[in-house]
Amino acid sequence: MSGRLLVVGAGQAGVQVASSARELGWDGSITLIGEEPYAPYTRPPLSKAFLKGEASLESLALRSAAFYTEQRIDLILDEQIAHLDLDGAEAVSASGRRWPFARLVLATGRNRVPSWLTAPTSTASWCCAMSATPGFWRDAWRLSPTSS
Ligand SMILES: Cc1cc2nc3c(=O)[nH]c(=O)nc-3n(C[C@H](O)[C@H](O)[C@H](O)COP(=O)(O)OP(=O)(O)OC[C@H]3O[C@@H](n4cnc5c(N)ncnc54)[C@H](O)[C@@H]3O)c2cc1C
Repeated sequence: MSGRLLVVGAGQAGVQVASSARELGWDGSITLIGEEPYAPYTRPPLSKAFLKGEASLESLALRSAAFYTEQRIDLILDEQIAHLDLDGAEAVSASGRRWPFARLVLATGRNRVPSWLTAPTSTASWCCAMSATPGFWRDAWRLSPTSS
């Protein structure tokens, strides 16, 4: 596939889908956008080693900086996607930047089902939602246009 694969949400699920897409042969660009200012990190140690001061945030990184370069994954931090322009196939960030996409993955986490998913996108085949948690995946899939 060519064009841009846009992954919104740079958590465990977002990083994995970007990585797997490249591994499985996505030829186009891959853009991974996260609203947090930190490079993608694993969360479980936050309430364990990190809380006890035994691990730094840097040590929790899911992937090295070199990984994103080598895999040609454009990692964009500190950008929150606030709106989807469905007609134009673009995501729009709170800062006003527009991100055209050929395929879109919403990996925004269990408790952050975007209201965009309920938009009337019954004819769209380019969007799916995922999370590292099965419950979210089940709920999001029910709402996602790819399930119709
Ligand atoms: C403190 C803590 C401890 C945990 N411990 C464990 C454990 O011991 N075992 C276990 O199995 N699980 C644990 N978990 C749960 C585990 O971390 C989650 O299941 C996992 O992080 C889910 O990954 P995700 O990528 O689906 O979602 P998330 O990790 O929530 O990532 C989603 C990302 O999307 C970003 N985002 C959301 N909306 C937007 C937007 N509009 N634009 C741009 N970016 C956006 C969010 O900021 C976030 O970075 C823990 C979680 C926490 C917080």
